[in-house]
Amino acid sequence: MQDKSNKNASSEHFETNAIRTQVGRSNEREHAVPIFATSSFVFDDAEHARSLFANEQSGNIYSRYSNPNTDEFVKKMCLLEGTEDGMALASGMAAMFLSMASFLKSGDHLLASRSLFGSTHQIITQIFPRWGITHTYVDVDKPETWEAAIQENTKILFLETPSNPALDIIDLEWAGKLAKKHNLLYVVDNCFTTPYLQNPAKYGADVVTHSATKFIDGQGRTIGGIVLGSKEAIEEVRFMARHTGPALSPFNGWILSKSLETLSVRMEKHCENAHKLAEYLESNEEVSFVKYPFLPSHPQYELAKKQMRLGGGLVSFEVKGGIEQGRNFLDALKMISFTANLGDTRTIATHPASTTHSKLTDEERLNVGITPGLIRISVGLEHIDDIIADIAQAIEASVPASVNS
Ligand SMILES: *Cc1c(COP(=O)(O)O)cnc(C)c1O
Repeated sequence: MQDKSNKNASSEHFETNAIRTQVGRSNEREHAVPIFATSSFVFDDAEHARSLFANEQSGNIYSRYSNPNTDEFVKKMCLLEGTEDGMALASGMAAMFLSMASFLKSGDHLLASRSLFGSTHQIITQIFPRWGITHTYVDVDKPETWEAAIQENTKILFLETPSNPALDIIDLEWAGKLAKKHNLLYVVDNCFTTPYLQNPAKYGADVVTHSATKFIDGQGRTIGGIVLGSKEAIEEVRFMARHTGPALSPFNGWILSKSLETLSVRMEKHCENAHKLAEYLESNEEVSFVKYPFLPSHPQYELAKKQMRLGGGLVSFEVKGGIEQGRNFLDALKMISFTANLGDTRTIATHPASTTHSKLTDEERLNVGITPGLIRISVGLEHIDDIIADIAQAIEASVPASVNS
């Protein structure tokens, strides 16, 4: 590939970097980057092959290692998150797994905030113990207990903020200082906010992970993930990924890199719609509480304002009356999708107590802020009036007749 007429720009602005970062052009002079659907790449000669394998020069060898489409996605994400290097992976879970497993060995201990994505919780509680890796969960709302939970063999501090689905906020700067003081690798799952709203590396995160399936793709089309961090940290992840095989496909890399071109405008609109919906819900008498990081009623409103550009695309609330009412609400929705994704152009509703978190006990659910009637809305890009109208009619329909009359 030639770099001729490839007007790349490295800017201080998010939008420009997300759009004007492109791997080289071919002789066809294409404007948009093509999909490099190839398993391997040819060597110029014996010496070229030798030097690529010896890591003396960079270049593509095999698409399980690297590919121009996944590289472009990685380059953009590094600029957007402010990290040196990255590794694109086949799913968010491949990213979560490698962001921990690449750095741990038998006998190590991991500290994690309690409310994590379901499969991340399974890795920590079901898979790591098989390999002699132990963990302690700490509560998001009790930061004063975290330091005492650190052991001599603790290697990683892993967290997610805002938490899912309660939308509690962890102070990224404070957690970064704690990790540094105890020499822990500081890992943040930044999926809910995307690099547009929050950059954990600014607060000392050594490793930032994403499920790109969510807002980054933003259109419910693909599964993908990425791990970002220093050259040194990503070298460990790359070693694990190359030899165990969870590479992102060139096609999905192409989709995700194109998706980043519109991430800023989509996030602005997701957040604007979510904020308006949260304000509406606060005014609805049948709603017992609303959680949205940028509502002044959120217990950590000031902290959210400090570390997030906008409040995000997710809103949690509870309809009065508990689990039955929550289920009735979902059954009454006419437009809003009932599906297990988030960060789509289409608004999505979920009821964590009867679905994603149904295997927890009532007490475990309450520990992570999931009340029986809690509903999580991933606010999409439809017109806000239509989103609010559907939610309003479903709340109305969920109220038992005896209460209504
Ligand atoms: C969806 C999600 C994941 C897992 O990502 P996949 O792309 O589904 O594998 C991890 N963390 C968070 C916070 C998520 O929302």
